Amino acid sequence: MPGNGQVRACIVGGGLAGSLLAWRLATASRSWRIDLVTGHHSRADATAASGGAVRAFEAHPEQRRLAAMSMVELLGSRTLRLWADFRRVESVYLPDGAGPLDDAIADIDQLLPGSASLVPAVELAKLGWTGVDDHPGFAVMERRAGYVSPDRLRNSVLADGEVRSRMSVHTGPVGRIEPRPDGGVRCVVDGRPRDYDVVVLATGAWTGAVLRNNGYPDTDFRVQSIQYSVYRTGSWRPPMFVDERIGVFGRPTTDGGLLLGRPTGLWSVDPDVPPTTPHLHDSAATLATARFPRLRLGGVVRRVSSADCYADAPILGLRPVTDQQHRLFTFTGGSGGSVKTALAASHRAAVQLIGSGQPTELVTVGRRIG
Ligand SMILES: Cc1cc2nc3c(=O)[nH]c(=O)nc-3n(C[C@H](O)[C@H](O)[C@H](O)COP(=O)(O)OP(=O)(O)OC[C@H]3O[C@@H](n4cnc5c(N)ncnc54)[C@H](O)[C@@H]3O)c2cc1C
Repeated sequence: MPGNGQVRACIVGGGLAGSLLAWRLATASRSWRIDLVTGHHSRADATAASGGAVRAFEAHPEQRRLAAMSMVELLGSRTLRLWADFRRVESVYLPDGAGPLDDAIADIDQLLPGSASLVPAVELAKLGWTGVDDHPGFAVMERRAGYVSPDRLRNSVLADGEVRSRMSVHTGPVGRIEPRPDGGVRCVVDGRPRDYDVVVLATGAWTGAVLRNNGYPDTDFRVQSIQYSVYRTGSWRPPMFVDERIGVFGRPTTDGGLLLGRPTGLWSVDPDVPPTTPHLHDSAATLATARFPRLRLGGVVRRVSSADCYADAPILGLRPVTDQQHRLFTFTGGSGGSVKTALAASHRAAVQLIGSGQPTELVTVGRRIG
């Protein structure tokens, strides 16, 4: 990487991951010039479809840390909360079993003191659950959780990044990507080849295809269908929840409805034509109605079907594509949960990319990140 001169970077993919990473880099260092290549705007990406639920608890420790750090940044920045249209609601996560959760609570407590606690699952009856009398374990309750509009956050950081002259946004897909002898990477952007010091593929569920089309191995990533429906409801709604025992997740919506979904288990789907599976939507509604006797589901407001990129280690992070010589990375693989971790993951990725180069201060909107 050039030590003192300008660094030319290309971020491919204008979903939440790519947009935040480009914005971090553009705001962090005067010497970086970023081209963000956003792809086909018309196709619905995971960011546009996302439920946007954010909380700190995740089973995987690294993912949990990124989620908690993201929550700290979001709660600490009024601008970010406005950009993301953050709505605060309590979160309940009911694991399927009685595994140890004390470490998770301690982790979260370090960053968000007092936000998360363990509640015996049987006590969820007080919150409207039924069928938990025989549950041996605990639920994780979080006070500081909620949901955002990832699409609005993406558009806001793009608008902010563009007014800084260091970042330019290019619509349309990236063309051929090839390594250069000097360790850089050549990409075709806007129909012409451009040379970059570093290229990052933040192409979500399309990452495998982009890698394959350019002759790179694509074995690290898988694509899963994610689907949910939003329903009208009566006046009672559960809090934001994940109920692993019945395999249903849900959250209230801003218009008084309830979002409900189930893990699909449908892999290798085409992100351009993600499937809709009516029986999954129906069974999510049936299971939720049985779980919450006070819930009155009305008509379907909308059904959403999209896809996301999964990696074995469920972390949104930089991964080198081939070797350490060529500065070509992917930045995806958050396994269906990247909204929760995207703020901290993009910050970490920007620090790693800037690396031993310039001394720099990464800022959130409104204050420095310590
Ligand atoms: C239905 C659904 C609900 C979800 N709910 C939640 C939730 O409640 N909470 C949570 O934390 N996470 C949730 N997620 C996960 C989260 O939304 C995603 O992990 C996150 O949005 C992924 O962002 P991304 O930028 O990696 O991918 P995407 O948003 O898919 O963006 C990838 C971008 O790459 C572009 N691209 C592709 N190919 C090219 C190319 N050749 N050239 C240029 N650009 C290209 C695409 O056009 C796209 O804009 C949900 C996901 C889905 C699908």
